[in-house]
Order: sequence, then structure tokens, then C-alpha cells
Amino acid sequence: MIQTVGLKKSFGDTEVIKGIDAQVEKGQVIVVIGPSGGGKSTFLRMLNMLEQPTAGSVFFEGEDITHLPTNKLDTVREKMGMVFQSFNLFPNMNVLANVTLAPQRVKKTGAAAANEQGQQLLEQVGLADKADAFPASLSGGQQQRVAIARALAMDPDVMLFDEPTSALDPEMVGEVLKVMQALAKAGMTMVVVTHEMGFARQVADQVWFMDGGVLAEKGTPEQIFDHPKNERTKSFLAKVL
Ligand code: ATP
Ligand code: MG
Repeated sequence: MIQTVGLKKSFGDTEVIKGIDAQVEKGQVIVVIGPSGGGKSTFLRMLNMLEQPTAGSVFFEGEDITHLPTNKLDTVREKMGMVFQSFNLFPNMNVLANVTLAPQRVKKTGAAAANEQGQQLLEQVGLADKADAFPASLSGGQQQRVAIARALAMDPDVMLFDEPTSALDPEMVGEVLKVMQALAKAGMTMVVVTHEMGFARQVADQVWFMDGGVLAEKGTPEQIFDHPKNERTKSFLAKVL
């Protein structure tokens, strides 16, 4: 579904992504782990061209999206939902309106159909009773679940998550991970950057260890967590596990 070939990114003279060849298959859950500054966010943001690569290519569903004109890129981005550490809900709209805005504006879904789908998605993330609430009245965990519902409302083919639980109080991490786990189980293709090693172990098909701008090691959760081969993977895991 997604393939990167020789993907590189420099900021000024500093190369922060140093040539990544990777592949995400349909239905796969990839969890990207690694030390701060290793390039995880930059890599993830290049998958949907939020960050323009300096070299190399990203293929999405067989199409090279690296140099698409903006209008075509927008169409591609509709199929790639993204959830960030900061939820960035629209503060002046209630929860249901947050979820239904993009399908109505972008996909021209009618209000009734959008609301029906929106309610279903809120149910899916455990917030059916919060449709009329405003973001400011919700907990961080609830806001992040709205952000997930909002991304799902565009009916994406893949979901990209960048540390979706890092800004949350510890007691709210679980409720968000549970929603993500259910999404994975339902067959969604996902690329998840996270420090939640329990989630990685339980949910990932593949764990990618990123350090110094390269994918230093890739494998199943068992391979990475129980039998890491790379010295840098070993020393990272020794610190976080
Ligand atoms: P973290 O776990 O802290 O989120 P990360 O693995 O996501 O880290 P990135 O945010 O991708 O790492 O950053 C990789 C490197 O690129 C870092 O050295 C960072 O300072 C640098 N970098 C990222 N974005 C920019 C930018 N817009 N301009 C300059 N340097 C940047
Ligand atoms: Mg990051």
C-alpha cells in the first residue's frame, strides 16, 4: 500500500533521514519506535508529503506521490488519515461537527448521511453521548478519540499516528490505545509512532526501530523485543523496557 524508495530528508546541511526503503502492506500494523530525534516524525510526515523528501520516492497504492501537483496530492491525502500528539479539534464546533466537517466539505457528503456516519464513528470510539459537547469540555483522552473519529470520517485506506498518547495523562492512555487496537483488529492499515511498547508488542505486525535517520532494525514484535540483533536496538530497549 505504501512503499518508500531511497527516502531522504535534509534540513539545511543536516541529513535527518538517510535513505529508507520500506513497505507497508494492506492491513498491516507497523509500529515505529526509537530514540528522540531519530527521525520518526519526519519519516511519517513524508509518507503523506506533509514533509517534502529531499531525495527518493513514496509510492501510495502504486502511484508515485512524491511530486504530485497540489490538487492531486489532496486527493491522495484524503485516503491517509493522520492523528498527531496534539489533537487540534476545532474549538468552536461541537464534537459531531468536528467529525462531519471534512466529509461534507471535501467529499460533498450530505448533512444527514454525514451525521449518521459521524454518530457511528463516535460510537466506535466510545463517545456516542458526547456528540453535542464542545472540545474544551472533554478530557484529553476523549479529545484524542474525537480526533481519531474525525480522521476516520474521510474513510481512509491507511491511518498514520504520531505519538497519539504522548500528550495524555497516564490514566487516559489506555482508552486511546484500546480504540487503536480495535481499529487494527478491524483490518485498518496503520503506521504508528509510539513509545507504548506494550501496544507495539500486542498490536504490531512489524516493529521498525528507527535511529539516526535509518531503519536500523525491522521485525516482528518477538524478534525486536525478545531477540534484537542490532546493538542500538538493544541499548534503546534496555532504557525503555
Ligand atoms: P521525537 O521522538 O522527539 O518526536 P523524532 O524521532 O520524531 O523525535 P524528528 O522530529 O523526525 O524525530 O526529528 C529528526 C531530526 O530532524 C531532529 O534532529 C530534528 O531536530 C530535526 N528536524 C525535524 N524537523 C525539523 C525542521 N522543520 N527543521 C530543522 N530540523 C528539523
Ligand atoms: Mg516525533
